[in-house]
Amino acid sequence: MAEKHWETIKVQYCDRAGCEVSLEAEFVYPAEFMPDQPARLLSKRCSRGLECNMWNSMTCVWAGTNPMRDPFTQK
Ligand code: SF4
Repeated sequence: MAEKHWETIKVQYCDRAGCEVSLEAEFVYPAEFMPDQPARLLSKRCSRGLECNMWNSMTCVWAGTNPMRDPFTQK
């Protein structure tokens, strides 16, 4: 049976949140009878995305309030 997991793929300081946050990805791993299949990426999220979505100000793409800003692509 296939399995789904959320995994941290990047940790970075976010100046909007004022702390380190994680970019997480949900992968689905194939069943044991299909061992050559690579894991598939289903979706991504920020570990604080829900909280930032409730702020009044526009934050970023992961909060769903500012599609023009992605803190995880900044260095
Ligand atoms: S949702 Fe965006 S603004 Fe909020 S902590 Fe994550 S990266 Fe920072």
